[in-house]
Amino acid sequence: MEVSFSKESRMLRSGAGETFHGEGILAITKALLQSGVAYVGGYQGAPVSHLLDVLVQSKDYLKELGVHVEPCANEASAAAMLGASIHYPLRGAVTWKSIVGTNVAADALSNLASPGVTGGALIIVGEDYGEGASVIQERTYAYALKSSLLLLDPRPELAHMVRTVEHAFAMSEAANMPAVLQLRIRACHVRGSFECSDNVPPAISTRHEMAEPAAFDYGKLAHPPVTFRQEKRKSADRIPAARRYVVEHGLNERLGGNRGGVGLIVQGGLYNSLVRALQQFDLADALGDSELAILALNVVYPLVPEEIADFCRGKRAVLVLEEGQPEFIEQEILATLRRADLATPIAGKDVLPMAGEYTVEVIAQGLSSFLSRHAPELPLAAGNEWLASISARRDAVAKALGQPLPARPPQFCIGCPERPVFAALKLAQQDVGPVHVAADIGCHAFATFEPFSMGHSILGYGMSLASRAGVSPMMQRRTLAVMGDGGFWHNGLLTGVQSALFNGDDAVLVILKNGYTSATGTQEIISTPADDGKVHAPDKGASRVHDNQVIERTLRGIGVKWLRIVDSYDVTTMRATFDEAFTTEFAGLKVIIAEGECQLERQRRVKPWRAQELAQRKRMVRVKYGVDEDTCSGDHSCIRLSGCPTLSVKPASDPLRVDPVATVLDGCVGCGLCGENAHAASLCPSFYRGEVIQNPNWRDRLASRVRRAVIGLMQPA
Ligand code: SF4
Ligand code: SF4
Repeated sequence: MEVSFSKESRMLRSGAGETFHGEGILAITKALLQSGVAYVGGYQGAPVSHLLDVLVQSKDYLKELGVHVEPCANEASAAAMLGASIHYPLRGAVTWKSIVGTNVAADALSNLASPGVTGGALIIVGEDYGEGASVIQERTYAYALKSSLLLLDPRPELAHMVRTVEHAFAMSEAANMPAVLQLRIRACHVRGSFECSDNVPPAISTRHEMAEPAAFDYGKLAHPPVTFRQEKRKSADRIPAARRYVVEHGLNERLGGNRGGVGLIVQGGLYNSLVRALQQFDLADALGDSELAILALNVVYPLVPEEIADFCRGKRAVLVLEEGQPEFIEQEILATLRRADLATPIAGKDVLPMAGEYTVEVIAQGLSSFLSRHAPELPLAAGNEWLASISARRDAVAKALGQPLPARPPQFCIGCPERPVFAALKLAQQDVGPVHVAADIGCHAFATFEPFSMGHSILGYGMSLASRAGVSPMMQRRTLAVMGDGGFWHNGLLTGVQSALFNGDDAVLVILKNGYTSATGTQEIISTPADDGKVHAPDKGASRVHDNQVIERTLRGIGVKWLRIVDSYDVTTMRATFDEAFTTEFAGLKVIIAEGECQLERQRRVKPWRAQELAQRKRMVRVKYGVDEDTCSGDHSCIRLSGCPTLSVKPASDPLRVDPVATVLDGCVGCGLCGENAHAASLCPSFYRGEVIQNPNWRDRLASRVRRAVIGLMQPA
């Protein structure tokens, strides 16, 4: 059961005369339908997950429009979908999280960009760069440069973003180039409104199919010798056509006044932060109108040399605001001015940081340096005071605390089925010694934080088993690769399992089978159990295959001989299985499937059902764990072994005990790990299991009365 987007789905039906209110990423989703998109694909990942999630849950409406939507196995398959636009006048859009997703998609992108497209092809990437990012810090810009992809970076304002999507398709068709629309986290979540247009059903669609395939055309294959001509066409025809489109449609915006005779060239996506920084210097008003001249680049590749030269001509100096490294835009501007024989001084990375997010504060610092050097007569006092006040506040907080705040790393949800696996691994390493752990992308990466601190490397999604291939042969003790079921289907089956089997590797793999790609928003995968627990095949009327045993059957089918399936919460058995895998004489690939449904999804599923049962006054039993304070030894090894956020400490009520005792907070979902750990690790017997009974029946009431009476008899008078 995935998160419901029924409200967002209704919003997609809005038409002319209606106003959309909401988030940037949903505006982009609506813009796709207004642009006549025929097919949409992608792989989920923040901050663009909503796009695909909403469309997947709007399948009935998309069917009416004739639009095909496909959640893809990974970003490579999403990029390959765009192959439909090479021959056919079909507009297609795909989405994923960048930079990691773009890395996975790179092969298909190169092979798409070389022949070029007929129908508009749009790739919407979540540019996960900066303070809120969850992946490695690189930029999509390099891909646009190397493969000749249009790169759009729209100013984060909803109406403008919607127009940019519509232009992106048209420009892609005018230049025969695939277009990339990069959306930063802030642009995805910026809120606003825009006036809707009617959705445009595509001319060729699932409702109006093509009678015949396109005629064979070798020139549209990414194959030599035509690739040589395609490479020349990029610079001779396509990029000039793209530049013409940018100029004719005014995609890059000249904004602001001309105070101080200086100029600012900014990536469109950074525009709002720049304006906020200018406001601190009283150089922009409350409505965001700047007194300084700004060139907002909504298309950051290709740049238009004449536009750059025109903007810079006659300026005292120009500051380029380009987030991240290397400074591709700044270098190109410098080369453009040199070619145009213009001597306008250019500032950029000399006053702004080379790496890291350009927050309002960072931009304000850069503006202060730039303006004090090139326009010292401008009033900088207000901005400098604002910057000084921020640093003073930081100093005051640091002084008040006396020491830096402790880190608060993210961690597994309460009751997560993956936590017990790492508790068991901790115990298994007490038996066999420390092992090299090849970690992976997914919720299980939380095990890299306290109290587990496990994982020697993360090489990409589904890459853990492959990443230990060079380590295993050099290590006396067996290595362990950790992978989620999402990673297994994304990449791990082929790059890891197939390769390990082919090479006869002596390796151990644990697959955390929680039933979803949980870390990206608990989207369903092929091994997600159906709601009714049965296997559904497409020919039985279900929209997708749901097969809870497909991982096991796939592994057996491909040749895995040593396979164990263990309940994730059974710490004792999991520990013994790890011990066996690390010490058995079997020298091939050993796979442990740790089975336990994602607790977040479970709670989502169970809560409405429980509320319904309670409303019908049915008897409900909820398990909770607790700590008997008198028995707690106070060494807190239970906490070190679990890390559950609801397992905490409190002051002991016994005045003779100085150390705090363990306690279970209200959030406990009764997963049972506390008891399992206590048993598996022979901890002190302080944990008890309680049952909270709602709507008790007569037997419960009678039992309660008897128990109270017996306990009362044993209490001293
Ligand atoms: S989302 Fe699911 S798998 Fe991920 S940490 Fe939470 S409970 Fe665990
Ligand atoms: S039983 Fe223990 S580990 Fe499980 S949710 Fe409750 S406190 Fe957390």
